[in-house]
Amino acid sequence: MTNIIITYKCNLKCCYCFANEFVNKTSKNITFEDFIKAYYFIRRNERDRIGIIGGEPTLHPEFGRMIEFLNGENRKQKFKIPVQIYTNGIEIDKYIGILKKGNYHLLINCNSPKVIGETSYKKLLDNLRLIDKNFKKKYVVGINLFSETMDYEYIFEILKEFKLKTLRFSLTVPNLAEKKHLSREEAFGKKKEFLFKVFEKCRENGISPFYDCNIFLSCLTNPEDLKFLKTFKERYNLIKYSSCNPVIDILPDLKAIRCFGMSDYMKVSINDFKNTEELRKFFEEEIDHYAKKIPTFEECRGCEEMMLGNCYGGCLAYKADRIEEYKQHCKQFFNKV
Ligand code: SF4
Ligand code: SF4
Repeated sequence: MTNIIITYKCNLKCCYCFANEFVNKTSKNITFEDFIKAYYFIRRNERDRIGIIGGEPTLHPEFGRMIEFLNGENRKQKFKIPVQIYTNGIEIDKYIGILKKGNYHLLINCNSPKVIGETSYKKLLDNLRLIDKNFKKKYVVGINLFSETMDYEYIFEILKEFKLKTLRFSLTVPNLAEKKHLSREEAFGKKKEFLFKVFEKCRENGISPFYDCNIFLSCLTNPEDLKFLKTFKERYNLIKYSSCNPVIDILPDLKAIRCFGMSDYMKVSINDFKNTEELRKFFEEEIDHYAKKIPTFEECRGCEEMMLGNCYGGCLAYKADRIEEYKQHCKQFFNKV
């Protein structure tokens, strides 16, 4: 999947937002011409999937024109190209008509009324009803678990009303650099009880949860936890080591980043690459290759799963500021040998 970030504007101000380097700091929108360049760049790799993301993508003044363009591209192909749209759902009603004409999958990040206020939440619910009517089985709802005291009951009301059976969720990573230097206990250990409480509620309601980012650490689960996780009808990535692949996000200025979590570490121009496959390989060699060898937490030192490259120790953002030093250290070492 490669995402095009079409705008940095957002109509919400979520306290946990990962994209704080960009969102609402600048009013930058991608130009329509650059959107087309980014689209054709992704299409050079026929197997790659496309995501449209923001900020809140529906706030781009030319969002409708972009959708019409994608619909036109679809009409030219034998197979409709699937496009994933990430949205908070609050303004999506304006575009249901044209979205219905293409091959879109919607990922709706649902926030609690306590976070976004009753008015926006009511709009979200109204729009979910519209989406459910028009995009049966082609949408998924998600929740960001950002605090152990946050409200999550509302997501189960949504899942119940729309008879949904899956829930996407992310364990958020602190969005300020100085708060990323956490111990394993602070970053994950303290969240376990809350996370498993949400899982328990999923289990009771016949919902299969799956992780988007920042998979919970397997070293903090015990045989009882594993037994419980295995009771889910669909296990998706629930029982997986905490690792991830370069997603690739293309920014409005046509620079590419590995993913939001690594946005402040490295940006490169898509013009310097043949296609997204080459770009992905570049990020793997320049970021993942080194990052996965850096122990995220004290407990990771000497851990076999880290040495085998199975576990990254959670989101790479926890150690983004240590990668460059380690990379230089490796390069100097190999120059000497
Ligand atoms: S690398 Fe770290 S986080 Fe991953 S399993 Fe080992 S100790 Fe746990
Ligand atoms: S490093 Fe991995 S977990 Fe973190 S934001 Fe990027 S893709 Fe997600």
